[in-house]
Amino acid sequence: MTVTTRFAPSPTGNLHVGNIRTALHNWLLAKQTGGRFLLRIDDTDRARSEERFVKAIRADLRWLGIVPDGEERQSARFDRYEQGFESLRARGRVYPCYETPQELDLKRKILLGRGLPPIYDRAALELSEAQRAEKEAAGETPHWRFLLDRDRPIEWDDGIRGAQHFEPAQISDPVIRRGDGSWLYMLPSAIDDIAMGVTDVLRGEDHVSNTAAQIQMFGALGADAPRFAHEALLVGTEGKLSKRLGSLGMDALRDAGIEPQAVVALLARLGTSDPVDPLLDLDSLAASFDLSRFGRAPARFDDADLHRINAAIVHRLSFEDVAGRLPKGMTPDGWEAVRPNLSHVDEAGEWWRIVTGPVEPPALDETDRAYLAQAAETLRTIAWEDEPWRALTGALKNASGRKGKHLFLPLRQALTGMDHGPDMAAMLVLIGKDAALERLRAASA
Ligand code: GLU
Repeated sequence: MTVTTRFAPSPTGNLHVGNIRTALHNWLLAKQTGGRFLLRIDDTDRARSEERFVKAIRADLRWLGIVPDGEERQSARFDRYEQGFESLRARGRVYPCYETPQELDLKRKILLGRGLPPIYDRAALELSEAQRAEKEAAGETPHWRFLLDRDRPIEWDDGIRGAQHFEPAQISDPVIRRGDGSWLYMLPSAIDDIAMGVTDVLRGEDHVSNTAAQIQMFGALGADAPRFAHEALLVGTEGKLSKRLGSLGMDALRDAGIEPQAVVALLARLGTSDPVDPLLDLDSLAASFDLSRFGRAPARFDDADLHRINAAIVHRLSFEDVAGRLPKGMTPDGWEAVRPNLSHVDEAGEWWRIVTGPVEPPALDETDRAYLAQAAETLRTIAWEDEPWRALTGALKNASGRKGKHLFLPLRQALTGMDHGPDMAAMLVLIGKDAALERLRAASA
């Protein structure tokens, strides 16, 4: 059977690193075996779902190179949910409930006060036809719960957590539909997973107890449950999912100069014991993706890792990869020269401004100024074509007796206005002979 996975975001906000990780892992899991990865927009909540978020979700996935093999929308499938609901109702697996949120809250508090788990008491199941009719006549509209079968434990072999065992009596019958007829996520999701042939559901461990209930829904709908795997949640360096991390979207990463490859390289491995390899592309990551490498401990997301991986990726980007993002006039040689000094592509502009000038002449003492006058004179006479930096510093070394830092630093300062930076052999060529002479003379004055 073709492995089919899905990523099912609700378009009520932008994706953040946590959901992107889930999307990526589902993509990797499918692609590893040549399977299908679906994007399912969970937009049953019409009030909170917005089209701009649907667009942003698609754009973020595209930016990362995650291409879905199909897209589905829950809002186009309400008739399916109605059918599924009716078939469960016919089999007595859903039942109407009339408690108000306040009543439910009170029930919960009483149970908790007695030290008992706050499990719904199924009082609505006890209502007689007449009592229901009375409530309906009084204008009360029911919400609906799925009736869990309490006769057997719920068990599954979780792809990450291993053998799972739940006693259904320890779980409340989940509300699947609100009084206004709208859907909660659980039933539509199970109906869709069946209809779309989803074989593997990989999601966060916050869904573990939903899975227990959904496994019974699959059975009640006459289908086999897919394989399930639940990942440990993402935490920030502070140890919990900070507000900042929870809202850290792809826009913010893009604006911070992070390359999509860096996001992919880090998130693909986050939560596993495998090292991050900035050089692996999506296909190689898919080939080596392995659920058994995931641990139960929270996965730590560290910005600093992302920037470090980003630098490693930037150091390998070709001029063609970045041409559209470089300052006007910057040449392939210019890119090659500055690339090793960059953590982010947009820093190339700062170095290119140093190449094109003007640069601020450094404040130097008299001996250094004299040395730079000598350097200007030497530069004028050397053959420019053939490694001018080597020729210049070689000649100056002999003539001035300087070496090391004393030989090189004043030259770098005069030519670039900086104490550090890209390789001077490349920089000098990019600056050009006339500008270099001018800068050396300016600094010697
Ligand atoms: N829309 C659900 C969520 O975002 C989907 C969960 C799932 O993957 O089943 O939580």
